[in-house]
Amino acid sequence: MTEAADVHHGRTGAADFVATGTVITADPERRVFLDGAVAVAGSRIVAVGPRTEVEAAYPASRRLGGPRDLVIPGLIDTHNHMAQALVRGMAFEDLPNITRIYIPAEDVLGDDGIRTSTRVTMANLLRAGVTTTTDTTCTPDHEDAVGETALEMGIRCALAVGQRDRTSRLASNYEQIEGRSEYRDDPAVRADNIAHIDDFCTRWAARGAGRVRPYIHAPSVGSVSDEMFGAARDLAERHDTAMMTHINRDREEIELSVSLFGRRPLEHLSHLGVLGPRFLAIHAMLTTAREAQMMAQSGAMLTHAPVVCTDIVSAVTDVVGMRAAGVTVGLGCDTVINDILAVARIAYMMHGQAAGIPLYDPVGFTTEDAFDMATIDGARALLWDHEIGSLEVGKAADLAVIDGENPRLSPRHNPVGSIVRYAAGTDVKSVLVNGSLVVDGGRVLTVDEAALLDEAEKVAQRMREDLTDRRYWPLNHRYRVVDG
Ligand SMILES: [Zn+2]
Repeated sequence: MTEAADVHHGRTGAADFVATGTVITADPERRVFLDGAVAVAGSRIVAVGPRTEVEAAYPASRRLGGPRDLVIPGLIDTHNHMAQALVRGMAFEDLPNITRIYIPAEDVLGDDGIRTSTRVTMANLLRAGVTTTTDTTCTPDHEDAVGETALEMGIRCALAVGQRDRTSRLASNYEQIEGRSEYRDDPAVRADNIAHIDDFCTRWAARGAGRVRPYIHAPSVGSVSDEMFGAARDLAERHDTAMMTHINRDREEIELSVSLFGRRPLEHLSHLGVLGPRFLAIHAMLTTAREAQMMAQSGAMLTHAPVVCTDIVSAVTDVVGMRAAGVTVGLGCDTVINDILAVARIAYMMHGQAAGIPLYDPVGFTTEDAFDMATIDGARALLWDHEIGSLEVGKAADLAVIDGENPRLSPRHNPVGSIVRYAAGTDVKSVLVNGSLVVDGGRVLTVDEAALLDEAEKVAQRMREDLTDRRYWPLNHRYRVVDG
């Protein structure tokens, strides 16, 4: 590439880091520098461009990367649950698992358990080049612990909080024919929840040091009152943030919404005036074309966790259709695979196959689409793209250096396609978040990883003991653990 380097005026000579290799910027022109460099001073990117020019401007800086390596924007995980890492291996083929495994597991974690679970998840993410994660919690006791752990681990975190203020009951699950679905809202819980979210957003806007940002979680249509949805929308506006809702996720949710309101879940939220550019839908596998239009017209966005979508309901979100309609879509790990490179590849295989071959189909899905979703579109979905999601001068210095001294990735003809199709999380060598080196040599620098794994093993053992009775396993399994 022959583009001139963007060098921040007035700053030359010393930067803290210069990362070199093939630089994939994800900037508005989607520039790729085959022999490029990114210079970082303090928390900011100060230069992006051809290596020779950036190195000439910043000769005395620590080097990251090498000629065959790749430098990409820090990857963005738009949906996750820090409280589920230590139980996920019990749940993925033990369906349905949300109320039977995940929620009871979160309840027994305790303060030390949530911190350990969060550290393990964040270490897992950082090693895979994920610089921004999202926590969507329902447990008030976990909130500060997750935020404090993110500060300690050095990752960026969108921390979404909010309680359920509605209990609901789907008639067809109980009576089959007789009886009606019903719900009961609790105004006292709602008032507490609103005050709590307001306070949380104010506190963490200051405490998060720009790295942990407060968001609002309105868990689902079956567990949140109409009034609370409206309040969440208003709180999001007031605190300049977004709200997140699990939506159109399974059969029971659709049936409940239709039986209670005569509307499907997204139609119901549209009716309440909740959809908009501050609304992030989670999953949305069972979304109709009409609902997708409602999302697009309102500016609502989507977080897509392809593995969980197929885990929960064996349904594939119409990501291609939603993107074509103008919906911004980010990727989410949702605990099961804390590696956005893997998630991007799965999304590419899933939607690329469904959309057909791009050359023959006017609406296709390419490796570049998957890469955008893992970077700049994820930043947009979190309303954070003014700071992160691409390598541009003035943005926060969040980047990952990928090892290209590696037969999986070299030689290559198409850097973006090679990353999406071939790179693994373990190929990530170095990671900067907000200008701080948090991973080097593939190891997390902000925690003692060996001690963390020992500690995690103890908490996992406790969960196994607490939850064994709730499991269906070993139904349908042939493999048996034997001694030795
Ligand atoms: Zn979730």
